[in-house]
Amino acid sequence: MHVKRLELSGFKSFAEKTVFSLTPGITVIVGPNGCGKSNIADAVRWVLGEQSARFLRGLRMDDIIFNGTAQRKPLSYAEVAVTFDNTDGTLGLDYQEITVTRRLYRSGESEYLLNRRPCRLRDIVELFMDTGVGREAYSFIGQGRVAEIIAAKPDERRQIFEEAAGIAKYKSRKREAQRRLAETAENLLRVSDIITELKTQLGPLQAQAEQAQNYLAYREKLKGLEVDVFVAETQKLRVKRDETEEKAKAVADELLQEQAALNQLEAGLSEKQLRLDEAQEAVAGERQKLQQLSTELEKLQRQLAVRAEKSSNVERQLQEAQAALQELELQEEQLTAEKNELAEKQSQLQSLLAAAEKELAAAESRLRELENSPEEQRAGAVQAELVQQQEESR
Ligand code: ATP
Repeated sequence: MHVKRLELSGFKSFAEKTVFSLTPGITVIVGPNGCGKSNIADAVRWVLGEQSARFLRGLRMDDIIFNGTAQRKPLSYAEVAVTFDNTDGTLGLDYQEITVTRRLYRSGESEYLLNRRPCRLRDIVELFMDTGVGREAYSFIGQGRVAEIIAAKPDERRQIFEEAAGIAKYKSRKREAQRRLAETAENLLRVSDIITELKTQLGPLQAQAEQAQNYLAYREKLKGLEVDVFVAETQKLRVKRDETEEKAKAVADELLQEQAALNQLEAGLSEKQLRLDEAQEAVAGERQKLQQLSTELEKLQRQLAVRAEKSSNVERQLQEAQAALQELELQEEQLTAEKNELAEKQSQLQSLLAAAEKELAAAESRLRELENSPEEQRAGAVQAELVQQQEESR
């Protein structure tokens, strides 16, 4: 048996899925301090069931999940899978290869898988017992562990030798057998207590058993009597049944006659019903016509009202037109009077104008006379007088 493959994903510094393919012989992993070499040994210890965060160099178990770097976010779970070559059958399972997988989520959930099938931690511990491989076994010795083993107490060192000698499994089985023996002894004690208790109940139980036997005998007798009663009652019931059957036959005949009469009545009734339906139909037709007529009547009444409204409007307009006509006649009379007055004024003004023109002609002739005289001042006065007279005549 040897380790064939180790796969780490999200475990400590291994954020990316990393696969180590190992061949028989020696494989060496070299690197500077702090580059993650011990993380690989931790991964092997963890996948085989390590329960202590301290042994994995952390404070809490979820410290093994990749915690992030400046360039990369933390991951939500870690997974490690280790594959053993089992062609020599060292591990007691009928597989050529055995893969143990362990997963842990930040939520605290965790799971173990054996060849990709869920299993218990106990199955894994038992599988590797006495093979030198388990989490406590000597096949995986971490940094500083050699010194620890050398300095260990004889008892602690003995565990390692026992594992190497292959007796750890038997010791574990012995512990299990001893535990079960102790359980069985306790159960035996409890059974003997029950037997003692039952013995004290034996006397009253015998009396009860006699009573029960008597009861069974009486019950048998009762059964025979009940059968007799049953037979007698059955006989009586048969007679009664025959009588009842005859009565039932007579009643059935009567019922048939009644049924025939009823059928006749029903036939008459359905004919009347038919006529009633026809009459109801005719009434419905008349009602519909009546409805139409009353709708038409309402329409005519509405039209009549509209026309009456229109004729009263026309009458009102006629009255208004007559009033306007009277007003116009009155205005015409007034205008005619004003016209006559103006004509009279015009003829007065014309006669005034004729008189003024006459005076003007006289004045003009006098002016001409005066123009010929030397008395210039007098002429100016006469002219002014003339202008004044013209102004007045206008
Ligand atoms: P040494 O030679 O001292 O043993 P090493 O090469 O074996 O060193 P490890 O101690 O295995 O290195 O690895 C330590 C590295 O793992 C550190 O860089 C540490 O930051 C990193 N590391 C440990 N746990 C985590 C985690 N949960 N997430 C990310 N990185 C982690």
